[in-house]
Amino acid sequence: MEILYKSTRSDSTPVKASEAILKGLANDGGLFVPTSLPKLSLSMEELSKMNYQEVAYEVMKLFLTDFTEEELKHCINSAYDSKFDVEEIAPLAEAKGVYYLELFHGATIAFKDMALSILPHLLTTSAKKNNVKNEIVILTATSGDTGKAALAGFADVPGTKIIVFYPKNGVSPIQEKQMVTQKGANTHVVGIHGNFDDAQTGVKNLFADTELAKEMDEKGFQFSSANSINIGRLVPQVVYYVYAYTRLLANGKLTAGEKMNVVVPTGNFGNILAAYYAKNMGVPVDKLVCASNDNKVLYDFFQTGTYDRNRDFILTASPSMDILISSNLERLIYKIAGEDATANAERMSSLNKNGSYNITEEMKKELADFKGGYATEAETFEFIKKLYDDCGYVVDTHTAVAGVVCEKYQKETGDTTKTVVASTASPYKFTRSVMNAIDPKYDSMTDFELVDELCKISGVDVPNAIEEIRTAPVLHDTVCEKDEMKSVVKKFLGME
Ligand SMILES: *Cc1c(COP(=O)(O)O)cnc(C)c1O
Repeated sequence: MEILYKSTRSDSTPVKASEAILKGLANDGGLFVPTSLPKLSLSMEELSKMNYQEVAYEVMKLFLTDFTEEELKHCINSAYDSKFDVEEIAPLAEAKGVYYLELFHGATIAFKDMALSILPHLLTTSAKKNNVKNEIVILTATSGDTGKAALAGFADVPGTKIIVFYPKNGVSPIQEKQMVTQKGANTHVVGIHGNFDDAQTGVKNLFADTELAKEMDEKGFQFSSANSINIGRLVPQVVYYVYAYTRLLANGKLTAGEKMNVVVPTGNFGNILAAYYAKNMGVPVDKLVCASNDNKVLYDFFQTGTYDRNRDFILTASPSMDILISSNLERLIYKIAGEDATANAERMSSLNKNGSYNITEEMKKELADFKGGYATEAETFEFIKKLYDDCGYVVDTHTAVAGVVCEKYQKETGDTTKTVVASTASPYKFTRSVMNAIDPKYDSMTDFELVDELCKISGVDVPNAIEEIRTAPVLHDTVCEKDEMKSVVKKFLGME
């Protein structure tokens, strides 16, 4: 069955998968969603005999129906290869009865690699299929992890340039070092004076700037997005939920048909939406637990049915979740509103104007499978320490937020369903916070002393991604105000 992609904000003609990937965002500012969610064509038992790449093909072919088998397999095999430091790609680790789905074994040690190692291949294939002659300019706002993963994915990919904006004081020292040391003649990294939402809004405005698009076209450029609004990022993320279930089945941790819960540390709502898609495709998922940090706008939304971003933006030790506008939630809102594009456009315009919107009682009922939870900073640190003390397993701060919410949820509800926690970053990416949580004595050490110490106490080898930045020179030092983003972009493209 052919799957097309339509906008969440108007009833314009649906486009093919490759066109949706190329565009990133629909012309009306809406997000692309599949016209229907496909059902898996193989059983969980059949899929449990396949490796990651094979499962990826079985899932992604259902969404990217205008890609040939050869094209899609080429994309998959070019992405999920030795850039990952384990053959399983996304292994499960069991600690205190919970299964941690480790999504951080790729090139930049955060779960963003799961999608961003394949997106450049999907995008360049899409460009070829649609006879695009312009150079593709990837424009991205990052709360820390997307930026590096996108840079690594797109560095020196012919026919592309990549420009990444990050909040200058809103990312971890290791995250910043990873980005500003990025090699590749086509890469640009810019710190902005502002927070992630400022960066994301600035990027969205550039995408919506038709005059700029025209000027760029004349010079042979066009924008595309590596942010999680791109359907080309969402689809590869569905894969690892299917995969996780089939591994639990293969290892006898679940019996056929038995349900699993998933707990996802959430920011832009991309990762958990992928889990929801997996559930809709037939994976036996029961509850989808959405974990927030102190920026608990989603928790409040699930409690009340009101999404309200009018609150202080709090910088936490889980910076990739420091977000007040969760872009991908729009896809869910659209779906539970019966795919009513007009009503959705009104809500998003209210979010834009007033910073809030409401959903109806009917829509709230559709959210029964979602549970919201949040963890304070103190709870997050305590969790890291206790898990380490109890079983020697070290998790990063984002995963710890999910761990706290998982425990709270189980305690409150008595739900004993087997649970998978999405483990979204290596503890090596947030070494200072993690080590301080385990013992405050580490506070006086330098970032790389902490790295060596973490290796000692966890017994986990220092990942390549960390080794390579120890001595790497800084190659990007541009910093700008949030209203200077456009001129910075034009300068990089030689248009000024
Ligand atoms: C991006 C990110 C998240 C949030 O994921 P979303 O898909 O934006 O909800 C959580 N943890 C880490 C480590 C991340 O990099």
